[in-house]
Amino acid sequence: MPTLPRRPSSLRVLVTGAAGFIGGRLAHELCAAGHRVLGLDDFSTGWPERLPRAGAFELVEGDVSAPGVLARLVAREEPHVLVHLAARVGVRAVLRDPEGCRAANLRGVGELLTAVEALPRARRPRVLAASSSEVYAEKPGPLREGDPTRPTDGAGRWAYAASKLRGEELLDASGLWDAARGPLHLRFFNVVGPGQDGDSGMVLPTFVERALDGRPIPVHGDGAQVRTFAHVDEVARALRALVEAEHAPGGALNVGGAARTSILALARLVAERAGRGSAVRFTDPRARCGANFEDVRFREPDLARLAELGVAAPALDLTSLVDDSLARHRELARPRAATSRGPAPCASPAS
Ligand code: NAD
Repeated sequence: MPTLPRRPSSLRVLVTGAAGFIGGRLAHELCAAGHRVLGLDDFSTGWPERLPRAGAFELVEGDVSAPGVLARLVAREEPHVLVHLAARVGVRAVLRDPEGCRAANLRGVGELLTAVEALPRARRPRVLAASSSEVYAEKPGPLREGDPTRPTDGAGRWAYAASKLRGEELLDASGLWDAARGPLHLRFFNVVGPGQDGDSGMVLPTFVERALDGRPIPVHGDGAQVRTFAHVDEVARALRALVEAEHAPGGALNVGGAARTSILALARLVAERAGRGSAVRFTDPRARCGANFEDVRFREPDLARLAELGVAAPALDLTSLVDDSLARHRELARPRAATSRGPAPCASPAS
């Protein structure tokens, strides 16, 4: 199996969205490995308690989509690697303002390109940019990177997927990198685990929160939607391996796990493992998410490309993943004082 050549020494890594669910875990992972991490976050969905307290870590508070913010940090730090995770995420936020979500995510990519372009080619960082499994067109069975994608002009809830796909296109079309070290588009498939915020509409923290209180667990439709979950700690380790790679050919890359389930089976498992007697309650997502709400039926990654790159794919089984989420959910939850808890989220198994 071909493996990526590794850089031996400490790297300078710039992480946008470093106070986020994935970004916080990645920052910890990189600092623990001896790398210097500069984080950028506006705390719109992230929070400071997620950030590393040990190691070479610095956080700059700011908006990645504001003109010049990222460019100043890139010019100052000249990072070896730039991991772009900051984005408007979550079904709830997207449905509230689809066009705002699209515009903000694309401004972020535009700022990234401006920042990188200002450096001479030899000093440009490798870029790992968060995309999403939402870019894929509906298909049962494992999704490969070359499979058909959704339109880049999708509206409503699809504005998020469209912004991610258009972002991939803009990075690829920029010509800023050589093919051998071009941008990697991280197509995440349902990354979950303790510390994920249910407020944005993510399915597992919503189920866990309810089950810990013994409240009914809301399942959209018939619950037959298929999802495949990956533990955030394993994802952070996989991302570290990609960061440390000397060269990694660019392009789309599925980043996901092996815990495949229907949403109904997940709800029952969470209720059973929590042991507080929660029942499953079937709901019509259109009541909360609007009459035009469309759910995705299947989402399962083919992880062959990750394996070809020599990166260990997340492999934790579903029961272990649920148990860890139940055990550490409250410990790693958003601190209450910083919470702006609104009505029950449009809990959807979206990414
Ligand atoms: P998250 O909301 O926890 O993290 C996003 C972080 O970016 C937050 O800390 C937020 O405060 C910050 N941020 C948002 N907009 C910003 C801006 N304009 N300027 C600076 N900071 C900003 O979400 P996450 O689950 O950690 O997702 C990280 C990335 O992975 C996102 O790009 C998301 O679209 C993508 N993704 C995640 C999943 C998943 O399953 N978690 C699935 C598919 C794609």
